[in-house]
Amino acid sequence: MGNAIWDIDTDVLVVGGGAAGVSAAVTAARNGARVTIVDGAPMLGGELLTGRPVDGAIALDGRRILGGFADDLLRGCEKFDGRSAVVCDFDRRNVICMDPEAAKLALTELVFGSGVSVLMYTAVDQVVKDDEGRVHGVIVRNKRGRSLIRAKVTIDASAEGDVFTTLSNAVQEDGVYADTRKVDLTMRMSGIDAGALLARASETPSNFSLLRHTRFSDRSDALSKFREQGVPILKVPRESPLLSGAMGPGGRLPDLEAIEIAPTSALRREIYVRAANVQVPADRTVEAASDNYTGLHAQIETIIAFLRESLPGFSEAGLAAVAPQVEFSGGRYAKGDVVMDTATDAGAPVIALGCGVADAEIFGIPFGSLLVNGTDCLLVAGSRISAAQSRRADTRAVGTCMATGQAAGLAAAMTAESGGSLRSLDAHALRKRLMDQGGVLEATS
Ligand SMILES: Cc1cc2nc3c(=O)[nH]c(=O)nc-3n(C[C@H](O)[C@H](O)[C@H](O)COP(=O)(O)OP(=O)(O)OC[C@H]3O[C@@H](n4cnc5c(N)ncnc54)[C@H](O)[C@@H]3O)c2cc1C
Repeated sequence: MGNAIWDIDTDVLVVGGGAAGVSAAVTAARNGARVTIVDGAPMLGGELLTGRPVDGAIALDGRRILGGFADDLLRGCEKFDGRSAVVCDFDRRNVICMDPEAAKLALTELVFGSGVSVLMYTAVDQVVKDDEGRVHGVIVRNKRGRSLIRAKVTIDASAEGDVFTTLSNAVQEDGVYADTRKVDLTMRMSGIDAGALLARASETPSNFSLLRHTRFSDRSDALSKFREQGVPILKVPRESPLLSGAMGPGGRLPDLEAIEIAPTSALRREIYVRAANVQVPADRTVEAASDNYTGLHAQIETIIAFLRESLPGFSEAGLAAVAPQVEFSGGRYAKGDVVMDTATDAGAPVIALGCGVADAEIFGIPFGSLLVNGTDCLLVAGSRISAAQSRRADTRAVGTCMATGQAAGLAAAMTAESGGSLRSLDAHALRKRLMDQGGVLEATS
């Protein structure tokens, strides 16, 4: 590997190409900025590629809280036969399900089609900042060597805070890892007989979380919607008769909380399964993170055997994909101008919407939660925006990550164009332009 330094000048640099990063990059480019996106992975999409259902797009009462970039992505998926379905998950959410294979193609079209310069296999090595803490870009490393990328505005969408954590007083202390943390790995299985699975759920509803969704008054109401919806979306909780023997001490799957199933492709009769997880020490070395794979893969084998034995509809099913990455719960969250919590007053102009998992309330996200404390020229987007513990499960939903990415991308483009500072940006003007571009900032039916 070489050590040459190559210089790149850009208006907007986006670090990380997950839901937030691609939304930010495409939006900034569509608004006239020269945009570069870097991602250490070989493919754009981040955790979107797991196939998990998209939360934060449709509120519990059925109203839309997301639009703009997300609509383009869903249309792109449809073009590649990855038809999206809006479904009730009977637990507590309405979600949008899409095929991650179609999403790979749709994302590529959107990002390249909007003129974004893309550097894959390229990770941030060093953040370039001045004595006042202003971020001027990053040094990245890839096979070609090290490159300096200078940017008027940088957006940290790395989901690990790889840019903002290098700054002083920019991280919330309670986001730092505790003694242990949970690591998840998800998979997809194809060849499912959804009809047989749905019939079993109807016959033995006590095995499934069918009633936690607030729209259902009783079990028969939920079951009739469940049959009418006709897609395999289920949560088998730890305390269900089906799982209580298999989980917990002495069981085959001692670490599991639940098995979650959601549709990904009707054509392939395919589902997403979230089940494999282990508790690991809060040690963030590459070795420790990589070592988790053996335990997680062993769990996946056990879960496949368990599903085949215990649930109808799985006898012909096979493993279709193991997620390309492990997912860490917890982590480092930005300390912003506003640290959102459940009491944050949306008096300031709202630039994105979310929906509370616990209280089902639609809430507004102010621009101040994307501005990183004590620095300029830097925005945070996606799962690590400035939110307190009480809001993090809501703000890190995939749909909400796309919404904050879109707002960050437009704010960055407007700032790069005006030559002003992020903090002098007119948040009312930002909000208006977001809505003109399809952003949903007032929930619609
Ligand atoms: C176990 C688990 C289950 C979940 N279930 C759901 C669910 O059912 N529904 C839902 O809506 N949400 C769910 N979420 C949340 C959601 O999946 C994530 O919060 C969301 O996808 C994050 O999007 P993002 O764009 O912020 O980050 P990511 O998708 O993680 O993207 C970050 C990108 O940055 C890149 N990157 C990282 N560091 C660097 C670096 N230094 N240099 C260059 N590139 C870098 C990575 O390669 C990656 O592509 C779940 C989360 C977890 C952990």
